[in-house]
Amino acid sequence: MEKKDKNISAMSTPAIGEAGFTGDWRDMKPVIDHGKCIPSVKNKPACYLCWLYCPEGVIKTGIPVEIDMDYCKGCGICAEECPAKAITMVNEGDENG
Ligand code: SF4
Ligand code: SF4
Repeated sequence: MEKKDKNISAMSTPAIGEAGFTGDWRDMKPVIDHGKCIPSVKNKPACYLCWLYCPEGVIKTGIPVEIDMDYCKGCGICAEECPAKAITMVNEGDENG
């Protein structure tokens, strides 16, 4: 029998529900600095703690890491957990974000 990694659990993926694009609920949004983000800096799949901790399952692993802003709620957990301080929470209307 295949042994599964005990650190990996089931995750749901975001989809349109009755509430529509729930990213509309945000007032802050995460912005990734890919110059600090470990997968981009190392050019290899690594870290992805933001993906692991995001309660909405809206972070896509890859190089670069991407966030599905249609469903991100702006909770800021990814920014808190990022070991490289690569994620900054900015005001939703901030053009620099
Ligand atoms: S936690 Fe930070 S460094 Fe790690 S993949 Fe996510 S954004 Fe990049
Ligand atoms: S702000 Fe919250 S919902 Fe949005 S990507 Fe980060 S952890 Fe996920």
